[in-house]
Formats: sequence, structure tokens, C-alpha cells
Amino acid sequence: MSEQFLPFALPCIGEEEINEVVDTLRSGWLTSGPKVKRFESEFADYIGASHALAVNSCTAGLHLALETIGIQANDKVITSPYTFTATAEVIRYLGAHPIFVDIDPKTFNLDPNQLELCLKREKNVKAIIPVHFAGQACEMDTILQLARTYQVKVIEDAAHALPSLYNGRKVGNFGDITVYSFYVTKPVATGEGGMIVSDNADYIEKMRLMRLHGITRDIFKHNVAHTPSWYYEVMAAGYKYNLSDIMAAIGIHQLAKADQFHQRRAEIAAQYTQAFVDLPINTPYLHPQVNHFGHAWHLYVIQLQLEKLSFDRDSFITQMHDAGIGTSVHFIPLHIHPYWQTLYDLKPEDFPIALATYQRAVSLPIYPSMTDAEVKKVITAIRTIM
Ligand SMILES: *Cc1c(COP(=O)(O)O)cnc(C)c1O
Repeated sequence: MSEQFLPFALPCIGEEEINEVVDTLRSGWLTSGPKVKRFESEFADYIGASHALAVNSCTAGLHLALETIGIQANDKVITSPYTFTATAEVIRYLGAHPIFVDIDPKTFNLDPNQLELCLKREKNVKAIIPVHFAGQACEMDTILQLARTYQVKVIEDAAHALPSLYNGRKVGNFGDITVYSFYVTKPVATGEGGMIVSDNADYIEKMRLMRLHGITRDIFKHNVAHTPSWYYEVMAAGYKYNLSDIMAAIGIHQLAKADQFHQRRAEIAAQYTQAFVDLPINTPYLHPQVNHFGHAWHLYVIQLQLEKLSFDRDSFITQMHDAGIGTSVHFIPLHIHPYWQTLYDLKPEDFPIALATYQRAVSLPIYPSMTDAEVKKVITAIRTIM
């Protein structure tokens, strides 16, 4: 390991972000304020949605979304087992139950056929949470059609999907509510943070209230011309889910670079795909309604053709590490984690596609600051190992 180690993920922070944070610090307004407002309005414009609401994580946003559409104890919410635990844990926050539906073996997104069977079989399903895995949009036509037929809401986990296109339209314009993540490794990063997008003004107002302690300052019922600045009323047991202006300061400039970041990730993905054609590796499949530039390329996940190899996935990761390259695995399916497995008495083979996908999956480094030399280093290492 003579050269520098290439990390699996790195945020791409420039002078613009740094200067904006300094400006925020000097302004004296550190919590939610003018920069959050600006970030929300620019985010809504970018997506083409009517409203955006900043929160301190995607997890918080998903929780608010489920609560707002009325998810209650013992309701069921369908989602993918091939995701991060946040997608499903928010269902448990409300005492409801996730119903896992296996993934499509090519896209690793919710399998629409299995989804339909599940909706036919299960009573009391109130919502579906599609996860746009790696940044490839789910089959939203079918999902929305099924949602109408079975009268369930659609809350999109778009943590990977900034920007993702489906039929040429940006994700964020399909389901009832869509939630993004600005966690440090995500396509647009503020360290921690999230954004909720919806065209439904009532949902947005409910979530705005619950985002900050259930407090409202828009009080007209007192028959005074102006509510005094110190006055507020508590309408519900809300949460502490607001984003700070310090984070929003970073987010404003990250968002401005979102297309440029995406362009670079798409270039790297194309280089990988081309370089691996003759190797015992499955490169990411692209759904025809997505295509190469509609994929956000938050992750580049390869599948090792283990039957053609003399080593397993874990050994591959070790060999990559020894070659000075960080990789990761997305995801360890939820149904094999102790909590979910025990709670619902799940067996690894209950979701065979998710399990097999996991056993062969390796996520390669893909981020805007990677140089061509670094991309080549990854390619060379893989060719050598193979
Ligand atoms: C990262 C991630 C989340 C959680 O995002 P936070 O902003 O960290 O709460 C949710 N779902 C998926 C699929 C993720 O990858």
C-alpha cells in the first residue's frame, strides 16, 4: 500500500460551502432561519415540487411523513428488505409493522409483481415506501397504479435519488411525499440533514408543525392585529426535527452543484461498466424507463459471479483493501438483522433475491472528486484480482 488509500466515499465541499458557513456563523443566526428558507425554496424549484420542508435527517422526514398520512399502531406499511434500517424503523416508531416484499433481481428495487401479490394478500396495508436503490428509480407507474387500486399512500425513500429520473421526470413528483437525505455519504451532503417534498399543502403544514415541537406562531384566533413576537401555542407533542442554518448553508451550495456532481458520477459509472464487460461481474442493470443519465449513481453496486470465482465476496473486499481501495456492501438485508429477524420470526430464505443479491454485492467508490487516475486504480485492482 504505497500510494494513498482511496476511501469508499468522500463529501465534496468547496470554498462556496465554507464561506457560506462562515457567513452564517458571523450572522449570529445559527438555528433554522433565512438559510433554511432559501434552501427549501431552491430545493423545491430544483425538483419541480410545490413545497419542500427541511429536517435534520431523512429518518426524521420519513417519520413525519408516515405520521402525517395517518399511520397508526398495527397498520401495515410495505417496503423493501434491501435498504437501510431507517426506512423500516420509522414504521415501528408509530407502532405499525413493515411488510417486506422481495426485490427485483435486476434493479434491486421492490418487485412490482410481488408487491401486487402482497397487496392482494395483506389486510390493513396503509402505505408503500419504495426505496430508489443506489439512485435508480423504482417502477413508479406500476407502484402508483397499485396504490390507486388498493387505496394506499406512497412515501418515497429518495435518500439515494438526487437527482433520479423516471420517464424523464425527476423523482419527487410521483408519490404523496418524498424524502431525501443529506447524510455525509449521500449525493448532496450537509453532514446530517434531510428534505421532505410534497405537492400536498395540508401534509406540509402538518409536518411543519410536528417538525418543531408542535408549535405554531400563526395564531389568528386571539383577535389581535398582530401576534406578539414572544407568543406561540403548542398544538401537539411534536418533535425536534428542524435543520440548522449552518447545515442549510452547506446545502444551498451542494444543491447548486447537484447536476455537476451527478454528471461526474455518471461518467465514472460509464467507465466502470465499460471496463468490466469481460469480467465475471454483473454491472448495474438499467431499467428502460431510467437509462444511464436518469440513474443518480449514488452507489455503483457490482454483483460477483461467485460460481466462476475461487474466492468469496468478503475475500474480494479484503483484496481491494490490500490494493488500497475502500469498498462497502449495500445492503445487509433487514430480515437477517437480529432485531427484524426476531420480531417477525424471519428466515434468511424468506426473501431469497435480497439474500442472494447481498451475498454477491460490492459497492465501489463513486464520488465527484475522484480523479480519472483513481477510477483507473479501481479498475486495475479489480482486473488484477479477477
Ligand atoms: C441514508 C439512508 C437513510 C437515512 O438517511 P438519514 O439522513 O441518515 O436519516 C434512509 N434510507 C436509505 C435508503 C438510506 O440510504
